Amino acid sequence: MSVAIAVPPSEPEPAAEPDLARAAAAARTFLEALGVRCDGPGMARSPRRMAEAYLELLSPREFRMTTFPNDEEYDELVLVKGIPVQSVCEHHLLPFLGVAHVAYLPGDRILGLSKIARVVEMFARRPQVQERLTQQVADWLDRELRPRGVGVVVEAEHTCMTLRGVRAGGALTRTSALTGALRENDATRAEFFAVLGR
Ligand code: ZN
Repeated sequence: MSVAIAVPPSEPEPAAEPDLARAAAAARTFLEALGVRCDGPGMARSPRRMAEAYLELLSPREFRMTTFPNDEEYDELVLVKGIPVQSVCEHHLLPFLGVAHVAYLPGDRILGLSKIARVVEMFARRPQVQERLTQQVADWLDRELRPRGVGVVVEAEHTCMTLRGVRAGGALTRTSALTGALRENDATRAEFFAVLGR
């Protein structure tokens, strides 16, 4: 028997209804203030597209988190590697892109594997900092699934660092968050990082 939990039970905070027409008008004003003209044929619809693109980057898709009883009493690490991360840094509103590796040690329930990627997306599609994103995914799984431990590693390239400022092309930022046995048990933590290949 599967139990569907309506998501989000505690996240994210309710946001105001998006107003695309207003966002498109503001994008036009913003671009024109920077000296970018939007009245040519190629760019006439660009402010609208820009508004739509940001709306998509800032809107997680709805999903239901389905969990199952751990009837087989599986007690080894469950690891999903290479989950795509597409987020927007809250300082510059520029994308940061990379991957997340998420592991948990099952307790009484296990989680549909595709749902782990949806949890990452739920926290990625909002203005973020990578450290907080990493911790939020770990804390949410810890709270909702009550496993014996969670490990989350995020590796991402921040376009605000690679396209502007220091222009550190190719620089990867790595963050991790650990709970329960993955935090407290040296052997379990070592196993997690060994399976990640480092
Ligand atoms: Zn930034």
